Order: sequence, then structure tokens, then C-alpha cells
Amino acid sequence: MKPVAQPTPDTQAWFDRIDQGSLTVPRCQDCDHRFLYPRMCCPACGSRAVELVQASGRGVVDSFVVNHRGPQGFAEDAPYVLALIRLEEGPRLMAHVQVEDLTSARVDLPVVVTFTERGDRRVVQFIPAEVA
Ligand SMILES: [Zn+2]
Repeated sequence: MKPVAQPTPDTQAWFDRIDQGSLTVPRCQDCDHRFLYPRMCCPACGSRAVELVQASGRGVVDSFVVNHRGPQGFAEDAPYVLALIRLEEGPRLMAHVQVEDLTSARVDLPVVVTFTERGDRRVVQFIPAEVA
């Protein structure tokens, strides 16, 4: 059984939007800083005027690993690509990248977001932009 994230008060709204099939990024209304992970205060200026704005869903692979031995719940998926994705809006997040061919995974690979069902929740994943 694969785990799903357990939202905190700071992250509940962000995960709720993911469950609705929408990737958002927190944005500070005072200094325009966009950041992840989601939190109630802007990490740049300390403002509490934070809103969730729609992300384009596009990004690039900043770094990745081909995991040949997944942890519990993911072992049957191995080998798979786990990557640090830099979103078009700037913030980065860790996610699986679904590739047909593991050798196609590379730094700067353009990717787009997709969502996969996991129980009654959704999980963010990415696919190469050329197959989207
Ligand atoms: Zn700010």
C-alpha cells in the first residue's frame, strides 16, 4: 500500500486542490514570492498574505535518480524515476516522472503535471512534455 501525504493546517488547501486535479503554487501578495512547500507565512518577507495561484503544470527536471529498489509500496514500480522538478513559476517539488524509456530521463527534460489516483486522494506526477 502506497502512502499518501497527511496534510497539515499549512498544506491542507494545497492538497485539497490537488485532489481536485489542480496544481497550485503559494504566492505572497506583498512581495510576489512563489514558494513550495506550502505554508502560511511567506519565507521571503514573513507576510501572512499568502494565496494559492494556479500553476501552468509545466516544468523541467532539475535533478533525478532512477530508483531500482523502491521503498515499501513502491518496490513493484521499480525501476522508476524520482525527480526534483523546477516548475515554470520557480518553486521545486519532488515527484515521479513517468517515462517509457528510463534512458530518456535527463536534467532539463521538459515535463508536464499529471495526477494519479491513490485511494481517495490524488498524487502529483509528471510526464515528459513531448508525450503530453
Ligand atoms: Zn513575501
